Amino acid sequence: MSHYLISPDVMPTLADFSLPEELGFGEIKVPIMYRADYANSEWQPAQLTPYGNIEIDPAAKVLHYAQEVFEGLKAYRVGSQRANFFRPLENLKRMNRSAERMCMIEIPESIWMDGISLMTAYSEPFIPNESGNSLYLRPFLIGTKSNLGMGISDSFTFMVIASPSTIYHAGHMKIQIEREACRAARGGTGAAKTGGNYAAALQSAQQVQHRGYDQSLWLDPVEMKYIEELSGMNFFILQNGELHTPILNGSFLAGITRDSIITLAKHKGIAVIERDIPIQEVLNGIETGAVSEIFACGTAAIVSPVSLIADADGSTYRVANVDQLAADLRQSLLAIQEGREADPFSWTSSVQETFYPNV
Ligand SMILES: *Cc1c(COP(=O)(O)O)cnc(C)c1O
Repeated sequence: MSHYLISPDVMPTLADFSLPEELGFGEIKVPIMYRADYANSEWQPAQLTPYGNIEIDPAAKVLHYAQEVFEGLKAYRVGSQRANFFRPLENLKRMNRSAERMCMIEIPESIWMDGISLMTAYSEPFIPNESGNSLYLRPFLIGTKSNLGMGISDSFTFMVIASPSTIYHAGHMKIQIEREACRAARGGTGAAKTGGNYAAALQSAQQVQHRGYDQSLWLDPVEMKYIEELSGMNFFILQNGELHTPILNGSFLAGITRDSIITLAKHKGIAVIERDIPIQEVLNGIETGAVSEIFACGTAAIVSPVSLIADADGSTYRVANVDQLAADLRQSLLAIQEGREADPFSWTSSVQETFYPNV
């Protein structure tokens, strides 16, 4: 059963808001937020309110022991009045898998759908409708129990905030192999979408950016030999006409874009192979021409080409083709997401009428 309250301040707040010319990605936030608290062993009535600071006990678990998980998904309304979601229940499933790993409460489907639907329906006038643009939704869950002992929270806050955004332009990425640090251990939290994994990646990101590269390429934490992912995107190579991507092994994230690209590529008749991919094989393949194209994928940028791989010893490997198959897959996926092309996989769904403000 859904129950939520809409603050009387929501409509006046929205009426005062206007979109700036320049959106960027994740910079502008719609001036409302959704919040549901779990306390005393039950979900309390949720609320849609104006956006603002939240009060948190300084001893809350999230601030000390990083009990936090999040998601990222987009609502599109290109060329139509009404917004639609892309595979929103896949994000919920993943959020609940992440939450389980972090000993947090499961989000019921009704609270999830209420949160993302209310945020999207009320923000609809501010969802940019040019192709590629969208409302980026950021649901997150934090542990709020306020004692300093190490332990599991029994109170949680679930929120959804949202940002009208342009597509994230990662450009033609130059990436550097991270040979020293690991972002997530085998048996650790790499398969959970949790802030701690990002914290562990910051130092490497800072170092590679100093050297003029865009991102770190993470290797498996056991042998430092097989490719895992970029810090927030999954990894693909085109090798002898087949797409290869690292097989899920529990230490990196199962991207929903990754899954969608695998399905879409197979649908286009391209063979897709999930396996352990040694970094050395990719470097050799770039040199011999067996590996002709490389790209990464995630919700924000959809599909981003990789133009160059640098190694820690300073050697560089320039990829022969940049943004060819990647562009084709990006355009096909975006056309489905935006409802411009048939959706043979039933990935998109519109926001239900009941969530719209009755004006
Ligand atoms: C979110 C994320 C991805 C991409 O997942 P999508 O569901 O495709 O957006 C990849 N890697 C990490 C570490 C992530 O947090």
